[in-house]
Amino acid sequence: MNNKTDILQTHPQEFVCFLREEGIKRFYFVYNPQTQTMQSSHPQLQPLAEFIQSDPRDFMQHEGLFFQVSPEYDTLQGAFVHRTVRGQAAGGVRYWDYPTVEDYLRDGMRLAKGMTRKNALAGLWWGGGKGVMARNPEIETADEDIRAYLYREYGEFISSLQGCYVTAEDVGTSVKDMSDVFSGTRFTTCIPSVVGGSGNPSVPTARGVVCGMEAALDFLDQGDLEGKTIGIQGMGNVGGPLIGFLFEKNVKQILAWDIDLDLVNQVTAKFPDKKLEAGAVAREDTSIFAAECDIFSPNATGAVLNPTTIPLLKAKIVCGAANNQLEDPVRDDLALFQHNIRYIPDFLANRMGIVNAANEQYGYVKDDPLLERHLHKDWEHSIFQTTLQVLRKSCSTDTPTAEIAMRLADRLSLESHPIFGHRGRQIIASLVAEGSHLA
Ligand code: NAD
Repeated sequence: MNNKTDILQTHPQEFVCFLREEGIKRFYFVYNPQTQTMQSSHPQLQPLAEFIQSDPRDFMQHEGLFFQVSPEYDTLQGAFVHRTVRGQAAGGVRYWDYPTVEDYLRDGMRLAKGMTRKNALAGLWWGGGKGVMARNPEIETADEDIRAYLYREYGEFISSLQGCYVTAEDVGTSVKDMSDVFSGTRFTTCIPSVVGGSGNPSVPTARGVVCGMEAALDFLDQGDLEGKTIGIQGMGNVGGPLIGFLFEKNVKQILAWDIDLDLVNQVTAKFPDKKLEAGAVAREDTSIFAAECDIFSPNATGAVLNPTTIPLLKAKIVCGAANNQLEDPVRDDLALFQHNIRYIPDFLANRMGIVNAANEQYGYVKDDPLLERHLHKDWEHSIFQTTLQVLRKSCSTDTPTAEIAMRLADRLSLESHPIFGHRGRQIIASLVAEGSHLA
């Protein structure tokens, strides 16, 4: 592999072989704000640094990207630190298949940037980052022992970063995996509740989605949820409780869909006396987007709002928990706006997942006011208030909602932590100066 294209287009596992041949166990790319360039830890990897710094789509002056090849199971493990002005970079670790190194790097950078925005918009004193592990097809990831080892290795890697990134659970990672991460590092949240973790975030997440819906109705002068019809895609950990919360608000009817028939039947059985019309659908079925409803709520997977589905929507509000709902963040934000549909950005509506776990180290209080204020109507950073603020600004400036929310989040992300300042950058500088992380 002697040029940038070779490395970028290769499968992560071939890249791992290349790193082994070169004797590289750990490596990094760190941003130099003075020269506005990414510096690589190893000259052989400088072409990748150049790709990263010149990428306008996913790169946004990420402070540092750190990697290791896991010692035992040859898995590429990474920590993408985007911005640490508000505090340590926080965001979960994803365990996923990536066809190429480019896909892997892009996903990490994009997700890390998204966490900066989600955390800043929630008023949390955290920066943004993301962990990403590329699945090694050679290893049996369902094997409990292998998995435990792999996640412990990830935890040890996170320890080597001296606290500039604090990891958490994400797609492909379970609570059990997080306990294995915790055996290798203190820099993690989302650990099991038996060892002091905050437990399942799905119920607070569903409550947060309700707040986003209420704000959108308020903005449109349509009152509250009473008497409304809501369409829900995905009846899982968030979608299921969401149905219950919406019935508590006296909605008229809920239309709900999932690809899992057993789940549809289980959830339906919980609401025998309510007007819940639930059905199993094929994964690629887009007809649900055309359902007659006041609000459409995506709670399944990403990229569901795209040029095929947006023109089908009858609902004038879209508000759900699914991450990365827009297939293309700019194109589809604009399309929703042009269709006169109020899109409540996912990173605003689904913030309670991270809010619930972010401050585990500060302990727990019943009906915790620090959590509950996000769900109240009056706190300036609450989901309700922030949604109203975004919708009003979108209207007054003729600008799509996600763009407005991103601008607001980017501004907030540059406010310095009141006690620790921009310490993450100091930690990264210290890692580079000492070289200890590479050892
Ligand atoms: P989940 O896996 O429990 O539920 C998702 C459900 O969607 C599953 O039941 C699945 O069968 C269904 N589904 C998948 N594809 C579908 C399709 N095409 N049509 C209809 N149903 C489909 O996940 P979850 O924890 O409920 O999370 C839902 C979404 O919200 C995810 O995108 C997740 O990343 C995001 N999110 C969740 C939380 C949380 O606290 N759980 C927090 C923030 C964001």
